[in-house]
Amino acid sequence: MRRDYYAVLGIAATAAPREIRQAYRRLARQYSPDVNFWDVTARTLFDEIAEAYRVLSDSDARALYDRFGGGHDAVEAGRRGEDVHVAIELGFGDVVRGVALDLPVPRFSPCPACEARGRADEAPCTACAGRGVRRAVEGVKIGIPPGVDSGTQVRIPEEGSAAPFGGPRGDLIVSTRVREHPFFVRKGDNVHCEIPITVWEALRGARVRVPTPQGEAVLVVPPATAAGSVFRLRGQGLPRLAADAPGDLLVSIRIDMPAGIDARTDELVRELERLMPAAPREDLGRYRGGAA
Ligand SMILES: [Zn+2]
Repeated sequence: MRRDYYAVLGIAATAAPREIRQAYRRLARQYSPDVNFWDVTARTLFDEIAEAYRVLSDSDARALYDRFGGGHDAVEAGRRGEDVHVAIELGFGDVVRGVALDLPVPRFSPCPACEARGRADEAPCTACAGRGVRRAVEGVKIGIPPGVDSGTQVRIPEEGSAAPFGGPRGDLIVSTRVREHPFFVRKGDNVHCEIPITVWEALRGARVRVPTPQGEAVLVVPPATAAGSVFRLRGQGLPRLAADAPGDLLVSIRIDMPAGIDARTDELVRELERLMPAAPREDLGRYRGGAA
């Protein structure tokens, strides 16, 4: 459905060119992407405002729009309001537990001065220029469920813009972006992390405490574990929007080396080498000179 350019600029269909210009300048300043925190929303509104001004400030385009493009009160009465899009940024913890927010939403709402009628004492309402709705930034309480990701859209029914003259509200559509976490990396349904262990733990095996998105788990590292080994902790990842069970946590192993060895340690390691001889590079000789 085409947007009502007069409603976008908050002016009457009878507005003079000077009023159109003034409304445009005021709104363009208010919703400039440079000064607005809700950048995606501001950009959308800014584009709408610029488009409305482009048409209504050109007398030929405006005449065509008035004739064919809607914008008449009779057409708008009772129609549904526009959907409103708002972008939010969430932390990793918000994704784990979900979050309740009081979100500032720029939207059209019924004009309190004329109770959305657009008229007072037979004359057009001055507070809303006869539209019955006014643009305002209002707090809307919303719940973001656990498990959202960057690019998830959460639709909140009937919290968008009110339609002119008392029609039902459109929906509020909240797009989420999730900030990166310093330790946990999300990949699809699963979460990855890297845990350091000592050479001795790698050799002898160990029980290692691992932070998880939900709390903490104990990982049993078997004896003789190689660097880069990956262990899967089932159900220890993040909640999933479309599934009952959480995803998995994939823990990859890093082996930290001692800072250096002294003579005594060197002697002990040589003894170990004699006890456990190995030749891991034996087969590599055949590749010398690039042979395949
Ligand atoms: Zn009013």
